Amino acid sequence: MSLRRVTVLGATGSIGTSTLDVIGRHPERYRVHALTAHRSREALLALCLRHRPAVAVLDTEEDAAWLRRQLAEAQLATEVRAGCRALVEVAEASEVDAVMSAIVGAAGLLPTLAAVKAGKRVLLANKEALVMSGALFMDAVTRHGATLLPIDSEHNAIYQCLPSEHRGGLGRHGVTQLLLTASGGPFRGWSRDGLASVTPDQACDHPNWSMGRKISVDSATLMNKGLELIEACWLFDARADQIQVVVHPQSVIHSMAAYSDGSVIAQLGNPDMRTPIAYGLAWPERIDAGVEALDLFRIARLDFEPADERAFPCLRLAREAMAAGGTAPAVLNAANEVAVEAFLAGRLGFTGIGELVARVRDARPVEAADDLETILEADALARQAAYARLARQ
Ligand code: NAD
Ligand code: MG
Repeated sequence: MSLRRVTVLGATGSIGTSTLDVIGRHPERYRVHALTAHRSREALLALCLRHRPAVAVLDTEEDAAWLRRQLAEAQLATEVRAGCRALVEVAEASEVDAVMSAIVGAAGLLPTLAAVKAGKRVLLANKEALVMSGALFMDAVTRHGATLLPIDSEHNAIYQCLPSEHRGGLGRHGVTQLLLTASGGPFRGWSRDGLASVTPDQACDHPNWSMGRKISVDSATLMNKGLELIEACWLFDARADQIQVVVHPQSVIHSMAAYSDGSVIAQLGNPDMRTPIAYGLAWPERIDAGVEALDLFRIARLDFEPADERAFPCLRLAREAMAAGGTAPAVLNAANEVAVEAFLAGRLGFTGIGELVARVRDARPVEAADDLETILEADALARQAAYARLARQ
């Protein structure tokens, strides 16, 4: 077994730390090449001391200088760099075999695409990158021979439930439907009126998963499921009408594939992201992820219900963006990022998130998303439109 060198983009986050937990269990298999973080320099220092990467990346030169001093004191040879260009370089470096893409939001797009274009094994947690650039991203995967492994638990589950060669449309392989499960988030069963006054802490208090704050809010609005619907269309060459969202509050079934002979294949497990992460790292092998064995007697029952798109309009907005195509998903994603940030900062109510996304969508044209410049411009202009709306409130 050869040693695999891994770059972890977004190492200090929820997915990043789970990734390093799995990597740390298998020192004979994996070595960390680079670790990156945005501003959390103390957390990155601790990870560097533990995993001794060749390179560490932070956003600002000031933070990088601080980390450089600390690492020198600890007599570690880690090279410390700053900025976006450095993120791209550690993603495409020739000594790297696999890249965990776990930056949150659009900021992850360029380094993730760089890893794809360098033909790496790409472990995709950063769903926003794929939502923004779907066709371009998947085209780059094929063209550069990258190995794309979905880490989002639902997509990882579907990946495990499909035949190993699933390209060319689901129908070719007898798959009739993908069943995308959703926990329903902390506000499952709430009415739209009740949602108006919920706080960021309530929204981030997810019943089953412990995650970063942005995806926690997305889970509460169901925008996360909308982004995942778009993500599934691209990953599995599926149409939106071939994907059914199934609310399953226990989060034990992580998603399913239905076949023309009536079979439905599901992937089950405890809600612990180390399972899909270990799958992505070791594929096609299996390794210990440190995850507790599933105890079906303790779970006892599995429930299913449809999603309430009246109380949670973001799911519908995402479906509409996918149908509109082109830059529409990038606009949806950008408006949502601004809205979630404003909600977390106490400047926008919870139901204002979907309203702002819809307003920005209505204000921005849909263009063909054939090149990266167009996508980045659509993202930037949607953000501007969202900030302008917020300022007028
Ligand atoms: P998080 O907020 O916990 O961590 C984000 C990481 O990205 C941190 O290391 C942070 O320093 C870095 N980062 C943030 N902004 C950055 C920027 N502008 N430039 C460079 N680095 C930046 O987020 P998370 O929960 O780990 O989620 C990461 C990604 O994985 C998201 O796209 C999310 O949708 C996806 N995901 C997460 C989970 C989960 O269980 N947490 C599950 C499925 C998918
Ligand atoms: Mg998910």
